[in-house]
Amino acid sequence: MEKICLDQSALKAVDEYWEYRRIVGDDDGGTPFTPEQYEEYKKRVLPQRLKNRLYVSFGVPDGIDCKLIGPETECFCAHRYKQHKTDFEVIPPERPLSLPCQVRGCHCSAYEYVPRNGPNPVRCRCKHLPQDHSKATGHLCMKCNSCTGFQSTYICGCGQPCSAHQTLIETKPEREARFQPVGRDVPYAAMGGLTGFSSLLDGYFALGGCGSGTLKPIHLDL
Ligand SMILES: [Zn+2]
Ligand SMILES: [Zn+2]
Ligand SMILES: [Zn+2]
Ligand SMILES: [Zn+2]
Ligand SMILES: [Zn+2]
Repeated sequence: MEKICLDQSALKAVDEYWEYRRIVGDDDGGTPFTPEQYEEYKKRVLPQRLKNRLYVSFGVPDGIDCKLIGPETECFCAHRYKQHKTDFEVIPPERPLSLPCQVRGCHCSAYEYVPRNGPNPVRCRCKHLPQDHSKATGHLCMKCNSCTGFQSTYICGCGQPCSAHQTLIETKPEREARFQPVGRDVPYAAMGGLTGFSSLLDGYFALGGCGSGTLKPIHLDL
């Protein structure tokens, strides 16, 4: 595991920065909140976030979770999970739940995980990449006429083809009903399926303060 040495004041600044970033996400529109706005934001958003957290996983229905989606996990639309709508005042009643992308101009209407084969996303049966397909529902290919919508023949680590999998978005009671871990309640935005330290290692790494012997999960853009 990689270790980076930082002095205490730098560590504290890193802590505060990531704490802020993980709570606020992009909700400040790129201009950091003033301390008053930050307090106001937490008062308004955290209770609903704790109550309405959504868990996101990728797997075969009624099977294991092959992949837990975290804030940085890319969608079919190539934007990250945290760039999709993940906070709800009231969770919509319809299922499956759709989490649309919030990046301006993106037509993605529902977060959808695409497995990766090494550093690249898997290809469609038509041989083209996800980004060659429409981001709108149906995911038709824009480079050929033979494609009936993005579908990969890739076989997942669980032995089932990619096409047998779905991106599942569920509430805490729904996840508990499947006897899957829900973890502790956390105030952070867009945690998706991350429920414990080991799952944080996917896209996160441990930062040890020199000599302090403590491990802190911190966020890393991969
Ligand atoms: Zn998307
Ligand atoms: Zn998008
Ligand atoms: Zn194609
Ligand atoms: Zn295709
Ligand atoms: Zn699988």
